[in-house]
Amino acid sequence: VQRRWRSLWSRRAARDTRHQPDVQPPVDETADTVHQRFVEAAQWQAAQQRAQMEARCGPAASWPRLSETLTGPRHPHVCQSCGVAAPPPADSIALPDTDDPADPRTTTAVVRLVARERRPPWGVYAWQECDSEDAPEPVVVMLCTDCSARLILPHPRLYRRLPQHVPFVGIMALCLDCTWREGVRCTHPQTQANGGSGLELDQAPPIEVHVRARYGRGGFLTLYPRPVCACAGRHPASAPDEHRP
Ligand SMILES: [Zn+2]
Repeated sequence: VQRRWRSLWSRRAARDTRHQPDVQPPVDETADTVHQRFVEAAQWQAAQQRAQMEARCGPAASWPRLSETLTGPRHPHVCQSCGVAAPPPADSIALPDTDDPADPRTTTAVVRLVARERRPPWGVYAWQECDSEDAPEPVVVMLCTDCSARLILPHPRLYRRLPQHVPFVGIMALCLDCTWREGVRCTHPQTQANGGSGLELDQAPPIEVHVRARYGRGGFLTLYPRPVCACAGRHPASAPDEHRP
């Protein structure tokens, strides 16, 4: 999963250029300083893009929200723009039941999970809406691959695609038949979105990986190998009606 940067100025190269005393690396570049430069360049570029977007679309506070402007059906498996329905594919990438990170089967599964998160197959995915300062909010829109390609990039507001099996109330498999679900929202008063302390969820621990990729496109990635298996507030429609107000 980790890929080291090959430094443009490896120490050996610097040693071998003794006949060219002026040719010296600007600093003793390591993978981290190279990465840092890409991060800074990306931040600068993001600020430029934001300024351009504000010049074109007005101040960020006035940017529209897809969660309000899209008129399609609201369901965890349905695109809110075109209405196409696509339940998530059966999970074919399973981690072996061992905790040993050196197990080659674990490595293979993690590499496949990373590949799927970075280039997911066609489907309907959750996009988290951000506020005018680009901070994520507890709001999602479900979009098919075609509609997200058409809507997300040109949209001035920032949206982030959520990883598979992310613990996010309202759109999890557990939520489908829960009476607290309203479209793609959880209306339980204990959720953070509704001013509560958050619902207790039970899930296998996530895996943090650091992906090194070219042009500063790498970064930390959180993988959720298994779906949330329990929610403290869950109330299936088939259960006796005692918790609903
Ligand atoms: Zn669509």
